[in-house]
Amino acid sequence: MRIDVLTLFPEMFAPLLSTSIIGRAIAKGLLEIKLYNIRDFAKNKHKRVDDYPYGGGQGMILAPQPLFDALYHVLGAYESEKPKVILMSPQGKVLDQDLARQLSKEHGLVIICGHYEGVDQRVIDRFVDMEISIGDYVLTGGELPAMVLIDCVGRLIPGVLGNPESTQDESFSRGLLEYPQYTRPYEYEGYTVPDVLLSGNHQEIQRWRLKESLRNTLQKRPDLLEKAELSPYEMELLEEIKNEMRHTE
Ligand code: SAM
Repeated sequence: MRIDVLTLFPEMFAPLLSTSIIGRAIAKGLLEIKLYNIRDFAKNKHKRVDDYPYGGGQGMILAPQPLFDALYHVLGAYESEKPKVILMSPQGKVLDQDLARQLSKEHGLVIICGHYEGVDQRVIDRFVDMEISIGDYVLTGGELPAMVLIDCVGRLIPGVLGNPESTQDESFSRGLLEYPQYTRPYEYEGYTVPDVLLSGNHQEIQRWRLKESLRNTLQKRPDLLEKAELSPYEMELLEEIKNEMRHTE
């Protein structure tokens, strides 16, 4: 997949692009990320990219000219299949695992990072296919949101994670949170690992993991359970958990 990022602060992306899973995906050629400084496309003498809002009010707005030219440049480099143009925005659809999975199937993404009070509406009207938010709060710029998007989409691209099964049980993959995880040693400062995980009984381990995944979801994010499509077996386990909880109250 190719991702083009339009930003005023390309230097902010350096650690993401050279570290861990995203760094390896780039090194393996599974992900290509190109950074463009919006300022390089400004045609005025002082390379200004912002201007005052029409109608008055606080703050500055990213002007249309540098962004229009940057987008013509980036989109012109795509020969056949056009990329999806995304604006990072607190007004957008809130990013979740389903959206990340859909986007991981795209051939290319162009991500616009806003700044100041945001971008001139005509950029959105002319180019943007989708506005994406990373949550109901306001950040200074679109760079951190863009990095969040690149990370969660990037790790879903086939071949990026060594073991494709590692995303199957992850939180949100089936609308449930993941079960608790343990590693060595068996006992640490008096805390021990649940014995079933050492039993070698694969079926029992699977049952425990599913049940604890349901318990985690019930306790931490009950709203997810309302939307999850549970099998009769999972419903049975959930009832078991609720009974256990009633008895410990
Ligand atoms: N005035 C805008 C509003 O009220 O909707 C907020 C602008 S914000 C200070 C500047 C830029 O940061 C936005 O254009 C967007 O690119 C980015 N941004 C801020 N919060 C975000 C969020 N929750 N999700 C995605 N992008 C965000």
